[in-house]
Amino acid sequence: MLPDSQTSADVSPGGSFADQLGRPLHSLRVSVTDRCNLRCNYCMPQEEYVWLPRQELLTFEEIARLVEVFTSLGVHDVRLTGGEPLLRRDLPQLVRMLAANPRIRDLALTTNGVLFAEQAEQLRAAGLHRVTISLDSLRPERFSALAGRDSHAQVLAGIAAARSVGFPKLKLDTVVLRGVNDDELADLIEYGRVAEAEVRFIEYMDVGGATEWSAEKVFTRAEMLQQLAKRYGTIAPLNENSSAPAERFQLSDGTVFGIIASTTTPFCKSCDRSRLTADGLWYLCLYAQAGIDLRKLLRAGATPDELAAHISSIWRARTDRGAELRAATGKRGVLIGIEQLRQDPHLEMHTRGG
Ligand code: SAM
Repeated sequence: MLPDSQTSADVSPGGSFADQLGRPLHSLRVSVTDRCNLRCNYCMPQEEYVWLPRQELLTFEEIARLVEVFTSLGVHDVRLTGGEPLLRRDLPQLVRMLAANPRIRDLALTTNGVLFAEQAEQLRAAGLHRVTISLDSLRPERFSALAGRDSHAQVLAGIAAARSVGFPKLKLDTVVLRGVNDDELADLIEYGRVAEAEVRFIEYMDVGGATEWSAEKVFTRAEMLQQLAKRYGTIAPLNENSSAPAERFQLSDGTVFGIIASTTTPFCKSCDRSRLTADGLWYLCLYAQAGIDLRKLLRAGATPDELAAHISSIWRARTDRGAELRAATGKRGVLIGIEQLRQDPHLEMHTRGG
């Protein structure tokens, strides 16, 4: 149900209401936990963190109720993330609840894959549509240096399991860091071919948590394409009209891969996604400094209509374009220092759901 105060100016071509820049609300990323079993140094470089208090986390019923409200407002893509979502106990139960929502067209999971092999079957049976697994290196020792844990074999087992239990459209996400794994792009594409997965290369972003970020460490989209063209020859852009963050390209043999160039080529103009943290804060942008407390409203007894009215009025006022503003910053450095992150864990990428 759309809010009474909606005007024709708020309506996007898709029929749902839109924000101040004409962007609809179609996609919601739901973080189910802020905890993680890896310590990737571009995301969580410290060993210890200020974790969200467990009693403050949304229950599965609360998540499903909020998702129901979001889908009544036009959201049709829901992605479970974290932290590491597979650390949340009984995740298949939440998947089952969400899969029963007929408005969700795409129910996906982003995981580091470490625990995926043991849960793949259950997640598939519960109704998860597809999965994206993060894989930054094919070399075990390099993986351990990057992720701070010796879990490479488990991740590869997770990728194999995704395929063997029949998840379609498997994606592998690689954050490319200059001088660290920028020599593995072709190897990863070859691996993806065998694993029947589409590989996506992500530019290193200066998000909260990336306390070791510097512009020099960003291996850019242009450099990725240049390197791959040397190996594969002509690379054709697929020129899709999509709000998805990845730009997709095709090699001459038909292999498709993606690049998410949020750092050098932000895609704020088509950003139709927002994020819900595990404790119920709603963020309109990955770079937003503050979120909207939906848990408080929910626990105070707000009805679905009241929640919908609140969410829609906030979305209609949205002007966020955090990545573009960052890109326009002259001298770009670390976004948020460690002391500030410790005071407000919601500023962390792993809390708001990457
Ligand atoms: N634990 C899950 C995983 O590893 O996929 C989900 C959460 S993780 C925060 C989601 C994605 O964000 C991962 O693909 C990760 O590589 C990416 N990410 C984290 N920090 C990043 C950064 N500074 N720049 C670019 N991508 C980043």
